[in-house]
Amino acid sequence: MISIAKKHKTQLEALKVDSETKSLLPTWYHIGATKALKRLNNTAVSKCLRNTHGVILISDLLKVTETTCGNEPTPDNDLINNGCLCIECQAMRTIGCRHPGSCKLGAFRILSEILPKWNPLVPNVQDGLTLMARRVKQNEKAVLSDGDRLTFDPSITSRGGLSELFRIFVNQSTVDHPPSVRIKTGRQVAEEAMEIYVLDTSKNFKSETRGKMREPYKQAVFFGRGDERNAILPPVRDRISQAKVPGSIVATLHAARHVPLDVPLHFVYQDNDIIFEALFKHLPEWEDRGWIDVPFHNHLKALVSTLRSRCAITSFRRKANASGKP
Ligand SMILES: [Zn+2]
Ligand SMILES: [Zn+2]
Repeated sequence: MISIAKKHKTQLEALKVDSETKSLLPTWYHIGATKALKRLNNTAVSKCLRNTHGVILISDLLKVTETTCGNEPTPDNDLINNGCLCIECQAMRTIGCRHPGSCKLGAFRILSEILPKWNPLVPNVQDGLTLMARRVKQNEKAVLSDGDRLTFDPSITSRGGLSELFRIFVNQSTVDHPPSVRIKTGRQVAEEAMEIYVLDTSKNFKSETRGKMREPYKQAVFFGRGDERNAILPPVRDRISQAKVPGSIVATLHAARHVPLDVPLHFVYQDNDIIFEALFKHLPEWEDRGWIDVPFHNHLKALVSTLRSRCAITSFRRKANASGKP
């Protein structure tokens, strides 16, 4: 499947791949390979792994390393001299391997040369911010009614299996570089939780004030009375389409970048804002299609990656009353 994909200039790509899928990738032309791994392809050990141990997939490689004597030389085994007498090493000899220790070490070395994003030995981030099924259900219900708080799910994992990972247009940098992931779970500073209002200034500022500006500043972020981070934001245009980027996207991004990553953040909006549609409805599909043809994708991608880099909860809600005042 992968060679057919290559022929048609398609490439394997995903934002994040679960361990099961990672282990189903072929070993020898692994796309996540470093230069060192490409060199390892043709050593005697690699030949033995291929021809004697029948290693094709990463899962086969894992099997070679997962044995009772472990995958590094210890006083209990003799992997360096290939003299280990454990059941698995003996079994390797009976199928024709003359250096089970070297093969195990080689297999482990190959695995450790695979880039983290594709490496089944590197666990995906587990930090408790991933939404549990119940929370996801709540989000689905809440998305339709005002005043409910929706919690942003920072997780990204492709679970669709290998055939789901093919994309026709792939930017090489996304293959090699993992998506932005939040830094290790820090302490969440609950007492410092912030509520930030994203306001449409055309409703909140007197019309005379607006009249003086050539192009009315539409969005403001309000952190609290007297807070230095309060800001009214000028209109921003999309680099490609030149269309005006929805102010709430610009404002949310601005605010998220001005709050420490470990502070729980609660955004409040006045309207049925595009933010809700984007983050809670369309995001998985947009990422699945690599953001192709998504309007304002540069700003949206920046926003999503900023939110994902946070190690505290980020929630979004609409203001329940119509007065528009925080
Ligand atoms: Zn052994
Ligand atoms: Zn061998």
